[in-house]
Parts: sequence; structure tokens; C-alpha cells
Amino acid sequence: MSASVRAALIAVGDELLSGSQSDTNSSYLARELEALGIAVLSIEIVGDDEPDIAAAVLRASARAELVLVGGGLGPTLDDVTRHGIAAAFGRELHEDAQALAALRAWFELRRVPMSDTNRRQALFPVGARILPNRAGTAPAFLLEHEGRAVAALPGPPRELRVVWAEELVPWLRARGWLGAPIDERRFFLFGIPESTFAERAGAWMAREAEPRMGCTVRDGTLTAVLRARANSPESLAALERRVAEFRARFSAEVYSEHEWDMEHALARELFARNVTISLAESCTGGLAQGLLTRVPGISRVFTQGFVTYADEAKRSALGVPSELLRAHGAVSREVAEAMALGAARVSGAELALAITGIAGPDGGTSERPVGLVWFASALRGRVQSVERRFPPSDRDSIRRWAARMALFLGWKRVCTAD
Ligand code: AMP
Ligand code: MG
Repeated sequence: MSASVRAALIAVGDELLSGSQSDTNSSYLARELEALGIAVLSIEIVGDDEPDIAAAVLRASARAELVLVGGGLGPTLDDVTRHGIAAAFGRELHEDAQALAALRAWFELRRVPMSDTNRRQALFPVGARILPNRAGTAPAFLLEHEGRAVAALPGPPRELRVVWAEELVPWLRARGWLGAPIDERRFFLFGIPESTFAERAGAWMAREAEPRMGCTVRDGTLTAVLRARANSPESLAALERRVAEFRARFSAEVYSEHEWDMEHALARELFARNVTISLAESCTGGLAQGLLTRVPGISRVFTQGFVTYADEAKRSALGVPSELLRAHGAVSREVAEAMALGAARVSGAELALAITGIAGPDGGTSERPVGLVWFASALRGRVQSVERRFPPSDRDSIRRWAARMALFLGWKRVCTAD
């Protein structure tokens, strides 16, 4: 019944240490534990080394009641997790007859000869509880020691998830170690730098604030997470108050409280208001249309898209006047606006969005640097435009950000209907 069980995660594998494989198992387990009301204190990565594993297990179990070790349960000589855990608690390894029989049966069923090294997978620290692995050959195990529990899980993500869900979660439930998940709320904001956000959020972001707030940034979206400190009525009331304050303070930037994907937020508004849309893209090459058409049912509102790279294409497909292109260049307010108006006219859509910019790495000048993008939106004939300078980074980042920025501007225009 204790809701205060804490976990520490250890991922084992030389490939994780060298960076050739990222530790997705720990991300998965951390999310799962969080949702089950178990706080994660630390995540550590260690190589396939018995003393290192033993030391990491001792460190982790000194702080956390539950230690989950992933990886290193394979049949090869470099898989030494079982040895490391046994060493940490001064236990011997012994061969389990039942596990060995199950292992033999697994190979027979698949008509594959079982090699001698596979026998290692039937070795367990004395006193361990064996957790069957339906998805592979390596059984997992769980060792209880002085009120702590250390579980060893197979490294392949699919197997780890099966053992976690089918064996470990039921065990944790039976042990009374699952807490109530802490209530949290998310806000997705676009076009606000992290530092500006922090300034405007002020004391809300202090470590001792109630509720706690954290933020992350990716592709122009800032995700703010507000988390209650406890499941008490006071904490939940504080969370609700902060949610209301947050909505009021960041109303211009919050595009969703449900999902990160901008296209869903825009599509929801288009559907609700029955507004048709068209897009004309230059530097993003169709990325914004690609995002928008991910939304099921979008054909109800998306009429036509244009990818006009060359000046001649902007002229012939969208009717952008040659004089405009000559006088202002393809990356300009004038051309962005003409692209949006042209897309609206040709497609007949009520709302048209246009993107023209310099994605780099070449082609920038001092007045028009890499990362400069002009956006325009035409809503029922009324055009608006805005220039943004994305910090010069790589071409992919600039294009992804610009595509999402265009969708955000479209979302804003539909919402405010001006
Ligand atoms: P092992 O159980 O150590 O033999 O791991 C088998 C395979 O599982 C490795 O080769 C990796 O591809 C994968 N794996 C192990 N640990 C992780 C992890 N923490 N995150 C993602 N994949 C992993
Ligand atoms: Mg390994």
C-alpha cells in the first residue's frame, strides 16, 4: 500500500555505452513506472562488465526499493548481468532444471539445435524467482534482498516489454508497490523561445513550486508539463488553479492541451469551422502538406497543394507576377503574399498558407541569411505575412520548423477568424 516506492534503472550493454544503440528500454520503463505511481530516481548505463554491474546494483539498491536491470541476459560470454547481480549480494549461481527444460523445449519447437552457451540462460542467483519470457529464450528473474527487489530483464525491447507487462507489473501489484499516478497536465506552445517562456512563467518554474512545472523544446514546440506534488485535494486544487492561470497567460501560444502534432490542432479547427485550406510551399518542398495530410479525413477541407520551387513555377502555378520576383526576390514579403493569394484563387480554398525561405546550407546573404523564412496567410482574400529568422542550423531542422510554423499561423488565423 506504500505509495512511496522508488525505482532505479540500470541499462547494461557495451553498445549503449558506445552510443551505437540508444537506451530506449529505460525511457519505456520510466514512462511505465511514472504512470503506475513509482518515482524513478536514476537511470544508469553500464557496460558488459561484472564488477561494474555489481557496483551499479549496490549503488541503486542503496537508494531505491526497486531496481530494474535491462540487458546482458543473452547466451554469449559477454552477457554477465546474472553474474553481476549475484556478486552484488554475495550469492552463487545455480542451474535451474525447470528453466533448462523450458529452454530445451523452446529450441526443439523451432527445430534449432541448442548450443552449450545457451545453458547460461538457465543460471540464476540462488533464491531468485524466475520470470518466464514468452517472447524469447532468456528468462528474467527477480531477487529480493533486505526489503529491496532487483529484477533482471532481457535487453531486446520486445522481450523486455512482454516480461515487464506479464510478470513484473502483476508482481508489483501483488506486493502492494503500485502507487496512484500523480495528476499532470500538458500544454503545447509554439513560437516562444525557452528563455522568454521561463521569464514569463517566473516563479511557476521554481523547484519548490506547487504544482511543479518543467518544459522541453523540439521543432519549435515547447511542451510544458505541470505536475501535482501529491494526490491530495490541496495539490489537485493547486494544479487546477495553475492550469487556469496558464491558459490565460499563454493564450496566444498554446495550440493544444492534447497533442504535440500541430496538424491535428489545425485540422480540428478547420473541421469545426468548415474552413477549406490550400498550401503553397517553396523551401519546405511539401513538408507542411505532408504533415496536414497525415490527419484522417482531411480531404473534407484540404483542396489542393502546390510545391513551387523555381520562379517560373511560382509564376505559372500561382500567378506570382514576374516583376514582383525580379524586384523583391523569391524570399520576400511580396512573393509570400502573392503565393498565398494565388493558391487561394487557383484552389478556391478559403484559407491559403504560403512558405518561402532559405533552408541552406548555401544561398544565404547578409540581408537574407540561411534560416530566413517568409510566411503568408490569405483568409477570404485578406492577406497577412510575417518574417521569421530561424537560428542558422541544419537544413532539415529549418524545414521542419518552417512547415510547423506555417501550420501554426494557419491555426491562429482560423481560431481568431481575422
Ligand atoms: P542483451 O540482452 O544484452 O543481449 O541485448 C540484446 C539486444 O537488445 C541488444 O543487442 C540491443 O539491440 C537490444 N538492447 C539491449 N539493451 C537495450 C536498451 N537499453 N535499449 C534498447 N535496446 C536494447
Ligand atoms: Mg548485451
